[in-house]
Amino acid sequence: MQRKDIRNVAIIAHVDHGKTTLVDELLKQSGQFSHGELTGECILDSDPLERERGITILAKNCAIDYIDRNGKQYHINIVDTPGHADFSGEVERVLMMADGVLLLVDAFEGVMPQTRYVLSKALAAGLAPLVVINKMDRADARPHKVHEEVFELLVELDAEDHAMDFPILYASGKAGWASTKETGSDDIHELFDAIIEHIPSPDLDGDAPLQALITSLDYSDYVGRIGIGRVFAGTLKAGKNITVMDREGESTVQKIGQLFRFKGLGRVEVDSIDVGDLFAVVGLKEIDIGNTIADLENPVALPVIAIDEPTLRMKFRINDSPFAGKDGKYVTNRQLGERLEKELQHNVALGVEDRGDEFIISGRGLLHLGILLENMRREGYELSVGKPEVVFHEDENGKRLEPLERLVIDVPGDAVGAVMQLIGDRKAEMTHMETSGARAQLEFIIPARGLIGLRSRMLTATAGEVVMHHRFESYGPYRGNIGGRTNGMMIATEPGMVTGHAMEQLSERGIMFVSPGDEVYEGQIVGEHCKDNDLPVNAVRRKNLTNMRSANKDATVTLKTARQITLEGALEYIESDEYVEVTPNYIRLRKTHLKENDRKRAGRKKASL
Ligand code: GDP
Repeated sequence: MQRKDIRNVAIIAHVDHGKTTLVDELLKQSGQFSHGELTGECILDSDPLERERGITILAKNCAIDYIDRNGKQYHINIVDTPGHADFSGEVERVLMMADGVLLLVDAFEGVMPQTRYVLSKALAAGLAPLVVINKMDRADARPHKVHEEVFELLVELDAEDHAMDFPILYASGKAGWASTKETGSDDIHELFDAIIEHIPSPDLDGDAPLQALITSLDYSDYVGRIGIGRVFAGTLKAGKNITVMDREGESTVQKIGQLFRFKGLGRVEVDSIDVGDLFAVVGLKEIDIGNTIADLENPVALPVIAIDEPTLRMKFRINDSPFAGKDGKYVTNRQLGERLEKELQHNVALGVEDRGDEFIISGRGLLHLGILLENMRREGYELSVGKPEVVFHEDENGKRLEPLERLVIDVPGDAVGAVMQLIGDRKAEMTHMETSGARAQLEFIIPARGLIGLRSRMLTATAGEVVMHHRFESYGPYRGNIGGRTNGMMIATEPGMVTGHAMEQLSERGIMFVSPGDEVYEGQIVGEHCKDNDLPVNAVRRKNLTNMRSANKDATVTLKTARQITLEGALEYIESDEYVEVTPNYIRLRKTHLKENDRKRAGRKKASL
């Protein structure tokens, strides 16, 4: 059954290429917001963190009801695709909701390396692109070159003929037009028409027994877990008993609560969802990603969908430094546990193991877990976090296996040497290298361990010019030791306020992480020692003052600025006897044992194991 009135389209766009602006314009011009519902805010990337980092973390849906010139009404579901490889499993699931993709590319910047990955997944799922070259109003727009680039990329990705024949539109989301002509038009209707013409309508069986797939989860404090998905056969009806079939093949009889259809940026309650359409459902007691909602009498599961394996884990525990509770609102073990439990409701690739006084959190990568931490600190949580470690497996003979990732690096040609040097001692093997223009693309299979700390070093070595992304490849035999941090730390021996005098002296021995005026505590890491051993230091030492004149002089000494500590930078940096202390306003590094004597004892114990 062809649902001619429905289109499900996934948008693939690099950050800043104008996705939000364009979708906003589609919503505005579809005419459905004549009731003043449109708020004009950025609609797809609603999470402030996503905007800051320039990535879509969780895919969101919106829908547009559009009436064409002949008076025919269409329901266009638009699904957003996540833009980072830490969320690669999410990409594949989201694409299951779509029948075609809209590839949005900046008319000057062209296709960015990050776009490749999502596009390759779309092609593998059999979805053909409708290409929109956006920002045509830019003075430096070069649509022909960009068109060529898209074509070349599709060749490289081994696209099938029908995908190579992609329809192309030019647009300026900002100016509110889209057209098949480069010279433009007055409005965006040609884009609606192109979506209706080129994105296939769902062709599924509406009379067959019900089959609906849950592809993502949402959560609300009021209704709990919300399942989001698509009907692949039959009709989904509110209030009806159905069979929920999980990924392991277990079935439970449950009752559909409320059912919602996407409309604009929100959802409206409906009695039923027809085949081909997308939905949100609440009221199911047990529902998870990859579940099939099937007919009560005739349950047949849809094919199992892949879920990312967690490859990285770290310890979360309460902040027990002397500064605990000074900055945040939520500081207890119970509050941490409740927050993590809530996160589990919709953060699919996350694992939480409650060990009583600490939690072992596993996830897809440093970015995945870093985003959770960043959200928690913004909400007012304080916690200490241990060194990220990869999740090992064992093969049938008990041999250790480790996660391997495919790493793609795109750099200016003259930075290749620096890249090779950094990758060199990380047990990576190069699988591909090519140059296009002034840039080079390199591909490696690298242990996930080798990625820890790599991004920041790459950025430094290439003056910020590197684009790199990685995705899980497979588990493989352990590749042997990869060296960790080579420098020792400077560790504060006294609490108090850091003085300029102390900084002046200490900066000769390494790089400082704190500045005069900062409060520090005993056991806090205040700098990186230029040698490989840890160095206890007094960061609060004052000059023996004889009069006010020298006190003032002390304040005017010019110091090297302290190294900025970022959350992810800190996580990559610490060793296993250290924590990152995360609070709403501060990121501090500390030793797990704050007293030097305790560290010595722990060190001896470790040495005697
Ligand atoms: P997103 O990150 O892909 O969602 O991109 P946004 O829609 O947020 O736009 C990113 C930036 O590009 C913003 O500064 C916009 O004002 C600008 N922008 C968006 N569309 C256009 C366009 O058609 N032309 C020009 N020149 N700039 C645009």
